[in-house]
Amino acid sequence: MIGVVGGGIAGLTAAHRLQKQGYDVTVFEASEQVGGLAAVYETAGDPIEKFYHHLSKSEETIVELAEEIGLGEDIEWRIGKNAYYADGTVHPMDTPWQILAYPHLSLYDKFRLGMLVLGIDVRGGRPTRKTYEEFTDFDDVPIKQFLLEHTSKGVFQNFFLPLLEAKFGNRWEDVSAAWLLGRVQFRGERDILRGEILGYLDGGFGRLLDALVDSVGQENIQTGTRVTGLDVPDGAVETLTTQQKNSGETQHDVDDVVVAAMPNVLEQLTGYPCDIEFQGTICSVLSLSEPLTDTYWVNIADDAPFGALIEHTNFVPTERYGGEHLLYVARYIQDLDSELWNETDEAVEQRWLNGIEELFPEFNRDTVNWIQTARNPRTAPVYERGYLDMVVPYDLSEAVGDGLYYAGMASRAQYPERSLNGGIVAGYECAARIAE
Ligand SMILES: Cc1cc2nc3c(=O)[nH]c(=O)nc-3n(C[C@H](O)[C@H](O)[C@H](O)COP(=O)(O)OP(=O)(O)OC[C@H]3O[C@@H](n4cnc5c(N)ncnc54)[C@H](O)[C@@H]3O)c2cc1C
Repeated sequence: MIGVVGGGIAGLTAAHRLQKQGYDVTVFEASEQVGGLAAVYETAGDPIEKFYHHLSKSEETIVELAEEIGLGEDIEWRIGKNAYYADGTVHPMDTPWQILAYPHLSLYDKFRLGMLVLGIDVRGGRPTRKTYEEFTDFDDVPIKQFLLEHTSKGVFQNFFLPLLEAKFGNRWEDVSAAWLLGRVQFRGERDILRGEILGYLDGGFGRLLDALVDSVGQENIQTGTRVTGLDVPDGAVETLTTQQKNSGETQHDVDDVVVAAMPNVLEQLTGYPCDIEFQGTICSVLSLSEPLTDTYWVNIADDAPFGALIEHTNFVPTERYGGEHLLYVARYIQDLDSELWNETDEAVEQRWLNGIEELFPEFNRDTVNWIQTARNPRTAPVYERGYLDMVVPYDLSEAVGDGLYYAGMASRAQYPERSLNGGIVAGYECAARIAE
């Protein structure tokens, strides 16, 4: 039997692929629900992800998987409008003329920003595309140094700094230029007249998880079952130990094991150390009776307790949710001792509402139908310098023992951005190595 540790998208995909190839697979999931970071809430209509999710046009493997399991027709490509909240105003940033009208960057700043986004190095007055071709070459370059050298002070301070602070908090200076360049390439396609093209699965990504569960078979997925031990005697995996709530431990004989969970789980089970540091996220979904803005993604450059406001129903129609307007309010957490992380959900929700009122004085709390808050201490790596050297290999036979594979968030597929697509790629990579 092949044991899969973790029933998130990566573990379910690995199990799906292995089973299709005739292997006997069991997925062990610690929580009562599969889905991990892609788990959902109910609404008056379709379910909604607890943490906001969309696809970029560059992500193809998830589209292929959706096609394979009969959901290909249901991937929708929509415009996700972007804006920047600065100095008390929401500035749309979707079309070239909106960007040109943005008052907090000079014309020269906009030119330098535009060239970087297009992958053109204009330093020295001799434009070239060669510089940024291999973004991994910049893995050791500090992001601030890179931005000051390759764009302008204005671009760094007024455009990137607020975004970096929202994404990495006080860890932003540790982030590499490779991450930024990779992220720019990852973003995918824009419609020049309307804005960024993003994907969503009609009915929510929970449908993809459900289809994977159907494919793997409920009988092969044990929820509420934590993997607590892994025996690797004589250089090869042999037994996996699991524990269910209020019951003793169970031993399972295994031929191979795919660990599809965070690297700390891999370390607990096998001792394999991973130096990648992770951030947590607190993310609330607010159901409103009226929209807050007309924009999907508002980056906040002003002082606020959150880094972005993501109004899902300005991306996917509100009719899908029984007329509820759904707004994500999120903040990444670098320090688990911070006041915010240690507050109750109710206190966090009050903080969000106060913050929204500060930014949008016309916001009326009576329009809030409900709020649900999710938090997880490990939701995204800090993509710091030297990251690529810390990535955990898919095949851990040399490092730990034969038959051990890793498909979690510290794998190469989850760089330069962790995503559902990355989880699927990591699951496939492990399945392919087992089949070899
Ligand atoms: C705020 C936020 C925004 C995001 N936005 C996007 C987006 O827009 N687009 C996108 O594609 N992706 C997005 N993602 C990323 C995406 O959700 C993840 O990359 C993906 O879900 C990771 O899947 P995974 O299977 O690797 O890990 P996880 O989802 O973390 O699954 C791991 C599973 O392992 C289980 N587990 C842990 N330890 C054990 C154990 N000992 N035994 C058994 N089970 C165990 C956990 O309970 C969990 O269910 C976002 C994530 C967050 C948090």
